[in-house]
Amino acid sequence: MLLHLILFLLLQILGAVIGIWLAPEDLQIRGGLAGMLVMGLLWVLVDFTRGLRVLHWLRNGDVSDVPLKLGLWGEAAERARRLVRQREHETRDSDRRLQDFLAALQASPNGVVLLDAHGRIEWFNQTAAQHFGLDSGRDLLQHMVNLVRDPAFTAYVSGGNYQSSVVMQGRAHSSAHPSRLSVHLHDYGEGRRLLLSRDVTMFEQAEAMRRDFVANVSHEIRTPLTVLSGFVETLQTLPLDATERARYLDLMAQQAGRMQSLVSDLLMLSRLEGSPLPGAAEWSSLPALMGQVEQEAQVLSAVLNPPMTGPAQTLVFEPAPARELAGRPSELHSALSNLVSNAVRYTPAGGEVRCGWLMLEDGRVEFYVQDSGPGIAPEHIPRLTERFYRVDRSRSRDTGGTGLGLAIVKHVAQRHGAELHIESSPGKGSRFSILFPASRVRQLS
Ligand code: ADP
Repeated sequence: MLLHLILFLLLQILGAVIGIWLAPEDLQIRGGLAGMLVMGLLWVLVDFTRGLRVLHWLRNGDVSDVPLKLGLWGEAAERARRLVRQREHETRDSDRRLQDFLAALQASPNGVVLLDAHGRIEWFNQTAAQHFGLDSGRDLLQHMVNLVRDPAFTAYVSGGNYQSSVVMQGRAHSSAHPSRLSVHLHDYGEGRRLLLSRDVTMFEQAEAMRRDFVANVSHEIRTPLTVLSGFVETLQTLPLDATERARYLDLMAQQAGRMQSLVSDLLMLSRLEGSPLPGAAEWSSLPALMGQVEQEAQVLSAVLNPPMTGPAQTLVFEPAPARELAGRPSELHSALSNLVSNAVRYTPAGGEVRCGWLMLEDGRVEFYVQDSGPGIAPEHIPRLTERFYRVDRSRSRDTGGTGLGLAIVKHVAQRHGAELHIESSPGKGSRFSILFPASRVRQLS
């Protein structure tokens, strides 16, 4: 600035000197003043041109280099350039932060929709697009309530109370594939709203399963308990002779046994759910497993088909191959014995139960139980491994079934990387088998 002033004064002096030098002797003062005027005009002209250049540069916006470096305009241009550069940096920074923020929202497992003060969609992430069927090319700036036509959602939005969430049907809901969403609105900014959605289908299904399970267990326990307390009352109130008393005590023992089996099956299931997966540290020999299962089957068959009631069942146990199976011995035993005991329990007297092991070409081993029992209609087969699912309710109860046997078998099979196969048709008997992977089988040492 000071330099600028000094330069101006120097030019004025130069103008005055030239004016005096060129003017005749009697007009030297006027000549000096005219020289100063000319220099002043020249100065203004040059300054004006430089100003125009800076203005042109500012208008065209390429701030990579300044058009002038020296003088007042040079400094002004340089300062403007730095300011624009700084603003550009700041804009880029906040843009990057915004992109990071949106990327984080995009990665959220929950649906996120940003609504403006009028309830119009400003932005949404991919999960929200799936939840509500939104399309970014079509639905931005549309009213959310016009796009999501669920009565529960509409009532929630218009109710204005966003303390809690609302549960509504997902877009892809059908009776075969239920889909449920939990939606929560949060106020933010000036009248804006943040909509969060979460898929709660699994959660609701688990909750329903838990309720069903508790209801089933209660029902299963209540029946023997009612019978037991009835007998206790009879014993307390009626004068019974020794034979009757013994008969009642027998029946009571049966009911107590039923409750015991139920509790032990429930404990087995909870152990299966809660314990770590069985590794390859423990090995069970197939002939030993088979021996145990055979012994139990013989006892059960004798109890269920006493000699005086009719022909006995034929139980055939093929010799087990000299192999070992990796897994938890108690679980393996439970799975095999459940299959064998089912076959014995559901096959009528005179029928045949055959079980054994097959070595498959790919190295897997199959444990199978084939019976000549009543067989199972195809519509029941996919549901047999559900807890408490029974086809023949009375036969199951009469023979001490808990309705949990096949659920245990399926669990054990899954935990050992094995598959449970069921082939059955009414009147033709059933074949239950478990296929163990080759990695769990080795030669008996
Ligand atoms: P349960 O304790 O009632 O036997 P399971 O889970 O072991 O329970 O079996 C479920 C249902 O499958 C049984 O109630 C029975 O109706 C049917 N079932 C199982 N095994 C056989 C079989 N070998 N033959 C015919 N029905 C069977």
